[in-house]
Amino acid sequence: MTRRTDIESGLAQVRDRIARACASAGRSNDITLVVVTKTYPASDVRILADLGVRDVGENRHQEAAPKFAECADLSLTWHMIGQLQRNKAAGVVHWADVIETIDRPELADAVGKGAMAQGVVRDVLLQVNLDQPVRPERGGCAPDDVAALCAHAAGVAGLRVRGVMAVAPHPGDPEEAFSRLAPIAGAVRGIVPGATVLSAGMSDDLEAAIAHGATHVRVGSAVLGRRPALQ
Ligand SMILES: *Cc1c(COP(=O)(O)O)cnc(C)c1O
Repeated sequence: MTRRTDIESGLAQVRDRIARACASAGRSNDITLVVVTKTYPASDVRILADLGVRDVGENRHQEAAPKFAECADLSLTWHMIGQLQRNKAAGVVHWADVIETIDRPELADAVGKGAMAQGVVRDVLLQVNLDQPVRPERGGCAPDDVAALCAHAAGVAGLRVRGVMAVAPHPGDPEEAFSRLAPIAGAVRGIVPGATVLSAGMSDDLEAAIAHGATHVRVGSAVLGRRPALQ
């Protein structure tokens, strides 16, 4: 099989899983599929775009920036889904249309500053840590601190708060974790009414995420194949 045929069949399977998850949740299928292209080359991004994918996700600035440059002719929405250091914030603003991993006020400030300097406004999601107890090293804001982070980020020029993002604890029960995310997303909408995005669910748990209100799923290996162990 050619690479294109492989990707096409992975994509069809994931789209089918999404459709079935929506049906069993009694939801209309308005899920945005973000294909996570980390570790995969720009040529794969090009194939995905040709197959109708509109959103791609990357987790490392050093890898994403050149890939984005190679794909500058494609009309794609690029999502930053990896942990982000303040000193990389301005660089990420250059290629990421959506920054999904805002988890502390200082990072919101740094991304906003980068956006203002580049004359752009960036969509951001507030990343929630669903580990119990909270594991800050895995990224994400403690659930109890999300409302304060949201209020802060909503006041930062250059940012538009669009919703929340989370990764299920591992090991753990994704159903249980995503059931805790839905009310947090509701609280964020109470502060910023337009913040309707709920980014949750990956290759192994997208059904659980859709059952609990995900609007965006971030899927890598189920579309592109298993990555080498190092991500
Ligand atoms: C790698 C990654 C994904 C995709 O994971 P798969 O299991 O390959 O689908 C989703 N979200 C985040 C934050 C990731 O780092």
